[in-house]
Amino acid sequence: MKKIFFPLLLLAHMGFAQNPDSLQIRKIYDEILTKGECYNVLTYLCKNIGPRLSGSAGAAKAVQYTKKVMEDYRFPQVFLQDVMVPHWVRGAKEDAYIETGKAKMKVPIVALGGSVATPPTGIKAEVIEVKSFEELKALGEAKVKGKIVLFNRPMDPTKINTFEAYAGAVQQRGNGASEAARYGAVGAIIRSMTTLQDDNPHTGGMRYAPGIPMIPTAAISTNGADKLSKLLKENPKLKFYFKQSCETLPDAPSHNVIGEIKGTEKPDEIIVVGGHLDSWDLAEGAQDDGAGCVQAIEVLRTLNALGIKPKRTIRVVMYMNEENGLRGGTKYADLAKQNNEKHIAAIESDNGGFAPRGFGMVGTNEQIAKVEVYKKLLAPYGLAEIGRGSGGADIGPLGNQGTLLIGFKPDSQRYFDFHHAQTDNLDAVNERELKLGAASMAALVYLIDKYGL
Ligand SMILES: [Zn+2]
Repeated sequence: MKKIFFPLLLLAHMGFAQNPDSLQIRKIYDEILTKGECYNVLTYLCKNIGPRLSGSAGAAKAVQYTKKVMEDYRFPQVFLQDVMVPHWVRGAKEDAYIETGKAKMKVPIVALGGSVATPPTGIKAEVIEVKSFEELKALGEAKVKGKIVLFNRPMDPTKINTFEAYAGAVQQRGNGASEAARYGAVGAIIRSMTTLQDDNPHTGGMRYAPGIPMIPTAAISTNGADKLSKLLKENPKLKFYFKQSCETLPDAPSHNVIGEIKGTEKPDEIIVVGGHLDSWDLAEGAQDDGAGCVQAIEVLRTLNALGIKPKRTIRVVMYMNEENGLRGGTKYADLAKQNNEKHIAAIESDNGGFAPRGFGMVGTNEQIAKVEVYKKLLAPYGLAEIGRGSGGADIGPLGNQGTLLIGFKPDSQRYFDFHHAQTDNLDAVNERELKLGAASMAALVYLIDKYGL
């Protein structure tokens, strides 16, 4: 029986392969997998420029470099959009230890982005551990005042999508300091947002609530958090010391970097694909989000290389300041509105450069259904998860302009191993996986451009 079925399957396969869209998508993948340049661009970005926190010299260099890459690729239009960005600097390397009796045990911490410094001599205080804001509230001022609060709720390891685990824990990092300060705490130490058990603290953005004292806050490694928690159970009177010298400088001028191919038939309909150019200061920002930036550039390079003349206008955008302000994404959407631009779709890659799984979308049922139709064409490339989901931070502000927001969805299992930690370097990115991600986005851009939404 097998021998009869085999040729039938083969014929069916050949028929499928002769579909012009299927052939074009195959060409897109072939181009990127054999001649793709995104990994080379990422290598330069990581090794010759490195960390790119908003307002830093690295961020300014990255603007000039990606602009030059786009010009060298002869994208018909390449331009910068001015945007003022927050300028936070870490200062000297942080110091922290647990003091119990006469013993002092060093633990790794990093200041959270936006945090104030400790006094120059540091802060030493007793520690109170909580897993939630509710628990903190129940303890109240009586138990919290004058202490350092340890927020120690881990990312839930049972969540298969690690972004869900992140979403379930990250408010501790974002709002922990102000929540603790409400009850008179003098500092807030946050368990790192990672499922990995190691000694690398993971930084990230935080915000102070208005009208509440601004207390210093830092992330502690997961091993450090466990150690502190264990020692606290043995000795609730132990003390924690930390010192950090970060500060917020005046806003600095920066830019979004944009490359564009004008559409031949419907130039007023814009499809934008992008990632964010800024990165945290502890590493090269390879996965977050150098990967997304170079994949987006690769999309336009590939259309050009294959001689595909898009009907609609295709733009690639390097957004500035996703990590600690979202000023670039906000500015981009504001200008789009001011200039009466019609963005039919915005695609963002900011979930890492891992093996592709699909696309998550935010939009009307009708818009989403129009993309879901492409499932069959994209399934052979591992893009099985196409449907309602989440878009991306930078494209979010376009949401109220009727734009379909699309987040590229790679495998999420290892992303938070590196996210915002000193390990987010080029060696965290696999070249083939990176290219497959770029090809996924290029294929989707090709389809949306051809058929519209
Ligand atoms: Zn990011």
